[in-house]
Amino acid sequence: MSEEMRTFGYLCPACGKAVMASRSVFALEASNAEVECACGKSALKVEFDGEKYYIYVPCGICRETHEAVCLPERVLQGATALGCSKTKQFCCFIGLEGIVEKNLRELVILAEKEQRQAGEEAPEAFVDNVIMYEILSELKEIAGRDRGITCACGSSRYGMEIRRSAVDLVCRDCGAKLRIPAATDADLDDLCCHMKLVIPGKRD
Ligand SMILES: [Zn+2]
Ligand SMILES: [Zn+2]
Ligand SMILES: [Zn+2]
Repeated sequence: MSEEMRTFGYLCPACGKAVMASRSVFALEASNAEVECACGKSALKVEFDGEKYYIYVPCGICRETHEAVCLPERVLQGATALGCSKTKQFCCFIGLEGIVEKNLRELVILAEKEQRQAGEEAPEAFVDNVIMYEILSELKEIAGRDRGITCACGSSRYGMEIRRSAVDLVCRDCGAKLRIPAATDADLDDLCCHMKLVIPGKRD
């Protein structure tokens, strides 16, 4: 007869990989256990004081460590999932290997989805889409005028870098930059009083 095993699974907050390992019930009753990620940057810790289990879970969703106190039957029998106190999602599974593996696979997908959503709020989004649109069309109009956008160095070759709350005009010859704020109505009013724009480059 093989020994009764319990599998622990969590998502490593450092490398994003699913971490899974089994320990025998005998070992879990006798001493503390640790399940470490192969990257070495996180580990799930299981401590037993003779009455209760204290489980420290590195959370792959919110990246903090959660502590759970469980009675032995919850850890040693059936299937258990421990939740992330911040997101209310499960972040740790304990039970038979097959069930833990299946749940972990779903957790990896969930965590990837959450990360993608977090990424979408990042740099590409504008502080105010309408203002940014207006600023860009105004810039286009200015650029359309004869030598509408030039650099003090004499060049009229420039590039445009669009940021979250501004547009940078960059001289292709000397590298000088003119920042056009693009976040508020005042920014738009400001730009509209310019017939021409001059990037403050070096004069020779
Ligand atoms: Zn890792
Ligand atoms: Zn969490
Ligand atoms: Zn220049």
